[in-house]
Amino acid sequence: MLIGVPSETVVGETRVAATPETVRKLRASGHVLRVQSGAGLAASVTDEAFAMAGAEISDAAGAWAADLLLKVRGPTASECAQLHSGATLVGMLNPFDSTGLQRLAVAGVTAYALEAAPRTTRAQSMDVLSSQANIAGYKAVMLAANAYQRFFPMLMTAAGTVKAARVVVLGVGVAGLQAIATARRLGAVIEASDVRPGVKEQVESLGARFIDVPFETAEEREAAEGVGGYARPMPASWLERQRAEVAKRVAQADVVITTALIPGRAAPVLVTPEMVQSMKPGSVIVDLAAAQGGNCPLTIADQQVMQHGVLLIGATNLPALVAADASALYARNVLEFLKLILMPEGGLHVDLEDDIVAACLMAHQGELRRSA
Ligand code: NAD
Repeated sequence: MLIGVPSETVVGETRVAATPETVRKLRASGHVLRVQSGAGLAASVTDEAFAMAGAEISDAAGAWAADLLLKVRGPTASECAQLHSGATLVGMLNPFDSTGLQRLAVAGVTAYALEAAPRTTRAQSMDVLSSQANIAGYKAVMLAANAYQRFFPMLMTAAGTVKAARVVVLGVGVAGLQAIATARRLGAVIEASDVRPGVKEQVESLGARFIDVPFETAEEREAAEGVGGYARPMPASWLERQRAEVAKRVAQADVVITTALIPGRAAPVLVTPEMVQSMKPGSVIVDLAAAQGGNCPLTIADQQVMQHGVLLIGATNLPALVAADASALYARNVLEFLKLILMPEGGLHVDLEDDIVAACLMAHQGELRRSA
């Protein structure tokens, strides 16, 4: 099988879908790897490193001519023009982007969106949402610590004592847990909120305090159970009580990291403009939900803005700022997924009996399999 790894062209995308490690493994299984020259440079992988691992280095047309294409981001309109009918594409294609999926169907390809894999134990090794959210949670704290004009840890020095930073984390999925762990390592005092009550134990085991908002109705309890491990929109009554609790913590906080998402919907508003106004000058908010509208309405995607003396960081692609490790983990996720679609004799098969393959399949030979 000829496998192509084109360069990513979306602005700010620094990751690459294969690494010398995964190239070597695919070569050992008898596949031919063709990597576009420069595809790995922004992730600190040189053409020489790919070539040493056994890849052919080619121009863009050579990489796009492959039967199986490995990508980080879904192809742009101009990239789609390079796709040939009958090719298979694997990447983070955004299952909720109906325009992008339609484009792939028109291009006549078979396309797998890795974000659509179920959150099951068997799918864990190919769970791109987890591998990348983990990095985003870490980097969010790094950006906050960099922008914040004070220390994170409590310090007792000859020149006096410095108080530990107070960090509030809203949304404790994969990114939120890593944000808590990272801020904790830096010595911050942390409080966290999520709709899923099961998260309380995880928050406490990391040394943070859970902001308890008890359920008052069966409807609230049922909504908090979510679907497939994901959150559902919570009733207004619960959100109102959560907002009151969060407001008290945010007013005291030095740093707020928000990660709350509901798949396929706009992000819930958890930090209101009034809450931002209540914060101390010099505080920092990192809004990881910026691409979905933000957990704070004052967030502007891909910008850093100062509002009421508070810095709001609306980064939409934090894993791209840790490109080498983000690529290494992503490429391993891709390799694990390929084991489900590559046949030992070299061809590709679409096994709809496999729940992971079936969930990720967005288009099959030009036919749209899932409407966003
Ligand atoms: P996500 O990125 O979709 O959302 C981030 C967090 O925001 C979630 O914890 C969600 O509950 C929370 N949230 C949503 N609305 C909120 C609100 N109004 N207030 C506060 N928090 C709110 O989540 P994710 O990190 O992708 O994780 C989703 C689920 O999948 C979690 O239950 C996670 O533990 C689970 N998971 C399972 C596996 C596995 O079993 N293989 C792997 C990874 C994650």
